[in-house]
Amino acid sequence: MTALHVEGLQVGYGRTIALHDLTLDVPEGSAVCLIGANGAGKTTALRAISGLVRARTGRVAYGGADITRHAAHRIAALGLRHVPEGRQCFADLTVDENLALGAYLAPRAAAIQRRAQVLERFPRLRERLLQHAGSLSGGEQQMLAIGRALMGQPRLLMLDEPSMGLAPLFVEEIFAIIAALRAEGTTILLVEQNASAALDICDTAYVLENGRVTLSGPAAAVANNPAVIAAYLGG
Ligand code: ATP
Repeated sequence: MTALHVEGLQVGYGRTIALHDLTLDVPEGSAVCLIGANGAGKTTALRAISGLVRARTGRVAYGGADITRHAAHRIAALGLRHVPEGRQCFADLTVDENLALGAYLAPRAAAIQRRAQVLERFPRLRERLLQHAGSLSGGEQQMLAIGRALMGQPRLLMLDEPSMGLAPLFVEEIFAIIAALRAEGTTILLVEQNASAALDICDTAYVLENGRVTLSGPAAAVANNPAVIAAYLGG
């Protein structure tokens, strides 16, 4: 079953067309990545899917329902959770308060249970519950951003450049976390410039260039494509 179906999405900012005609599918329980260079339109794609920017044309269906014109908060409430580029944690709030915001719609008992699960997954956050998010390291902030999204019990988790700007050890840790979520059956749409790591943990890949999909298919096949190797895998 398809968790997310995007059809012919066009998004622009003024005269700039950031996405020309994006069509993609994210099957339930699978991990899909969107790779491409700076400015290819990856962030714009996630923002359009979550209702943060309006598509000019095209359609987004989530769990079979058309959400193209839904407001962002309605889309999040449906369990489509977006971990934005640059983490966007609330710097002046504590780790615990940031996590609580991720479950603001949930009944109290469910929020308590999810908090326990998130802290089990991220022991570093448990050790820093009362620390302001702004004083966390980049990797810890990324864990907090993912943890906050998990507090909303996502049916689909969208991650925008989770490895960006992180020290190598944290990059490894973040990809291990994403791989674990995928193995547990979480449906994932991952945007990454670290194409090699993304292709390693995903089932399907789309390559975006200047707002257009130029290649898509099983991640292993995309990883073996000579043009992809030359452009994105340092071949
Ligand atoms: P990066 O990896 O650098 O974040 P990206 O693939 O995520 O790149 P986008 O951020 O989606 O790419 O940008 C796609 C295009 O849209 C770029 O040409 C960018 O300059 C433009 N763009 C993005 N956001 C805006 C905005 N708010 N206003 C005007 N143009 C924008």
